Amino acid sequence: MSGYDIKKFDYFAGRDLAYSFDCLTGVLLREEIVEYINYLLSRGRPFSFALVDIDNFKTVNDTLGHINGDRVLKKAAEYLCGKVGEEGVVGRFGGDEFMLVLEGTADYRDVWNLGHEINMNIGGLRFEGLKGVSITFTMGISRSPVDGGTYESLLALADKALYRGKMKGRNCFIIYLPEKHRDIDITKAGEKKYTSMYLCSRVFMYLTESENIEDGLNYLFRHFAAYFMVDHICVETRGGLNFQVIHRLSKNRNFSRLDYDGLKKYFNNIGLASFNKVEEMCMEEDSPVLREMLGQHISSALYCKVAAFGTEYGYIRVDMTDTVRIWQPSEKDIIVVMANAIGILLHYQGKTLAGLPLQEAYITGQEA
Ligand code: GH3
Ligand code: MG
Repeated sequence: MSGYDIKKFDYFAGRDLAYSFDCLTGVLLREEIVEYINYLLSRGRPFSFALVDIDNFKTVNDTLGHINGDRVLKKAAEYLCGKVGEEGVVGRFGGDEFMLVLEGTADYRDVWNLGHEINMNIGGLRFEGLKGVSITFTMGISRSPVDGGTYESLLALADKALYRGKMKGRNCFIIYLPEKHRDIDITKAGEKKYTSMYLCSRVFMYLTESENIEDGLNYLFRHFAAYFMVDHICVETRGGLNFQVIHRLSKNRNFSRLDYDGLKKYFNNIGLASFNKVEEMCMEEDSPVLREMLGQHISSALYCKVAAFGTEYGYIRVDMTDTVRIWQPSEKDIIVVMANAIGILLHYQGKTLAGLPLQEAYITGQEA
C-alpha cells in the first residue's frame, strides 16, 4: 500500500509517512495504527477495528519455506488493501497478523458485509509460482464507540473475537458482541470447548432434543448456516430439496436438484465430496454436474451422503455462491457427523428424507 492511498483520511493527509510502512508487506506499522486509533478516539469518530490472522500460516513456512512464506504474507497484505479500498487502512500487527481500521464504518451490518467480502474471497487468491496454494483468514472485530474508548480495550475485545473464531474452526470472522463474547477468557482452557468435538456433540443434541426429526433438522440447519456462514444448506433426495436454509446475502435464491449420478464420482469412501473451487474443477474436468453447479452460482460446496445400515437417503448439501471457500477440517467433521446421525435417526424412526415435509427458511447470519 502506498502512502497516497491513505491520504484521503485527514489524519494521514498532513503526515510524513516516509518511515510508516512495514518493509516486507508495505502496510502501515503497528505504531502508526495505534496513533491513528488514538486520534479517532480523541475526536469521538466511529470506526471498527479488525485483527486478521492467517490460518495455519506456520504450515506455509514449514512446507514451502520462509521465502515463499514472505511472498504469501506480501500478497495477503495486498489483498487486504484491495478489499478495504477506500473504506479504511491496513497495518501489520506482527507475524501473520494484520490490523484494519475502518473509519466511519461501525454499524454491525456494514461491518458484517465487509468481513464477509474479505473472508469469503480470500480462498480465490493465487500466488505466483506456488501452484495449488491457498490461504484463509480468521478475523476478530471490535467497534468504537460501542465496544470501548481506548485502543487497549478495542484490541482486547477483537482478540477475544479472534480467539473464538479460531476455536470455531478458523476461516471465519467474528464481530464482538458483549452478550455472546463477554465471558471469553483467552487464557483459560475452558474456551477450548469450541472444538469440532464440542460442535459434533451439539449436532446430536439438536437432532435428539425434539420429539420429531423435522424440528431437529430445521434447528440444526439454521444454526449450522449461521455458525459457519454458508449461503445454502439443505438435504437433497431424488425427490428434490428439503429443509432448505438460504442466507439472505446469497447470490442465488433458487437452488435446484443436481444430477446425483454425475456427482457420485466425487464422493470419497466416507461419503464426503468437497469442492473448494468449482470453477477450477470445471475447467479441469469439463463435467456436466460441475457445470450445473456453476449454473446455480455455486462456487464451493461440501456434500455428504446420508446413509445408514445399507440404505441411502440422499445427501446434505452445503453451498457457497460466488465466493471461494476453503473448507476446514472441522467443517468436514461436522457435516459427516450430521449426515451419519440423520441416517441413523431415519433408520430407527422408519422415515425417509423425501417423506418429511418441505421446510424453507431464510436467515441473516446473525443467529448463531
Ligand atoms: P493459527 O491458525 O492458529 O493462526 O496458526 P498459525 O500457524 O498461523 O499460527 P502461529 O502463530 O503458530 O504461526 C505464525 C507463524 O508466522 C510463525 C512464524 O514462523 C511465522 N512468521 C512470523 N513472521 C513471519 C515473517 O515475516 N515471514 C515468514 N515467512 N513467516 C513469519
Ligand atoms: Mg496464524
